[in-house]
Amino acid sequence: MGAAVCLQDVYKVYNRIPVVNRLSLTIQQGEIFGLLGPNGAGKSTTIRMLTTLTRPSDGQIWVAGQNVVKHPQAVRARIGVVLQAVSVDNDLTVWENMELHGRLHHIPDPQRQQRIDQWLAYVELGSRRHEFVRTLSGGMKRRLQIARALLHEPQILFLDEPTVGLDPQTRRRLWEIIRQLNREGMTILLTSHYMEEVQSLCQRVGIMDTGKLIEEGTPEELRQRHGEGLAVHQEGDRWESKFFPTLEAAAAFLDGLTDRTGWMVRPSNLEDIFVHLTGHQLD
Ligand code: ADP
Repeated sequence: MGAAVCLQDVYKVYNRIPVVNRLSLTIQQGEIFGLLGPNGAGKSTTIRMLTTLTRPSDGQIWVAGQNVVKHPQAVRARIGVVLQAVSVDNDLTVWENMELHGRLHHIPDPQRQQRIDQWLAYVELGSRRHEFVRTLSGGMKRRLQIARALLHEPQILFLDEPTVGLDPQTRRRLWEIIRQLNREGMTILLTSHYMEEVQSLCQRVGIMDTGKLIEEGTPEELRQRHGEGLAVHQEGDRWESKFFPTLEAAAAFLDGLTDRTGWMVRPSNLEDIFVHLTGHQLD
């Protein structure tokens, strides 16, 4: 399997400030990769560069085997993009939104109508095809965005905070769609603030902070690297935690304390590692 996305020493400055600072990262075909980071870390800027919306100031980026600066059209033909701001047109119907996107991508009829039917059915919006988008719920709008992003049959799907603002049930329904797409071979890069989402969906994660990639690996690799056991101490509102290679080692540390008030031991998770590395809570 080849690389779906490859960034080499990517640099982006805004007003002389580097917001993406020498980022190198490879995402393999067929992966669901999660990009995590506190606000302002440079995640959206990275997605914008990968999807040809803004150019890197320096460095090289290949998406689906194409250079994003030299061949932006070829990249756009091979990717689907769902950005944070809901970008479907409220004054058009569900079908009209799909039709417009299909025409922009020069998909001829009758293929265009077949694919519109196919993808609306996939996200369970077939029965809503003649309704105005403004009458849809937030979750339905997001599903329409995904159906639209898939219409030209991309190889890679970019999802920037795909479930932000959605209720837990709707979020789970979207996770199912994302997982199903991945099982069918789609490479997916998503950003998220929800640890549960990343843990449930992503095979590999990258953590960004101040424009740099500060950690990368599978959630299990990250736990092994930082420690699988955690001893947590609470005093009033203050929490302090200490990583140990294993849960047993964390328990042994606790056993050795003369005063164990406010201490507890548990397995570490991705959120603990995120907080440890960035000093930020996720939400
Ligand atoms: P994240 O998605 O991780 O929250 P962003 O990529 O949105 O981070 O932003 C990274 C930094 O770049 C922030 O400090 C933000 O203010 C700045 N930034 C983003 N876009 C622009 C822009 N168009 N002009 C100037 N600064 C920008």
